[in-house]
Amino acid sequence: MIDLPDEAAALAFGQRLASVLRPGDAVTLSGPLGAGKTTIARGLLAALGLVGEAPSPSYAIVQSYAPPEVRLPVLHVDLYRIEEEGELLELGLDDARYDGALVVEWPERVAAHVFPDALRLTLIVAADGARRLTAEVPTAWEGRWPLT
Ligand code: ADP
Ligand code: MG
Repeated sequence: MIDLPDEAAALAFGQRLASVLRPGDAVTLSGPLGAGKTTIARGLLAALGLVGEAPSPSYAIVQSYAPPEVRLPVLHVDLYRIEEEGELLELGLDDARYDGALVVEWPERVAAHVFPDALRLTLIVAADGARRLTAEVPTAWEGRWPLT
């Protein structure tokens, strides 16, 4: 369990995540609206070199980042508005040849097998508004989690 007491802590967590991120990785971010999922993604993208604030992909569903904008290609995805899993095909998210990293908000909108080896992060918002984060760590992330 990781405490994220404010926005700065969430951005810093995203930055630490970026430092161990590898091509082919998937990270999912669960938690209620406003929990801070996009904030973590923004910290991660900033650490990978993105200048300026990454837009939330909640309307576009997918925001794509590629070198030289960022060091590692990243697809930042928000599945909140997806209606059926078939839409993943149209979005190119079933493409196993993608050589960057996936950061996915609202993964529970699709079946768990869509992102099989993902680091699954869940944000919890306490009654006083404080955010905490828990992780389900797959084999691919052993040795990288907990983050230092
Ligand atoms: P989500 O993507 O989960 O809907 P956002 O990342 O857009 O949430 O964050 C919603 C709001 O909460 C923003 O105003 C952001 O600054 C704030 N916020 C993000 N993380 C935290 C945190 N750990 N503690 C307090 N406020 C936060
Ligand atoms: Mg969001």
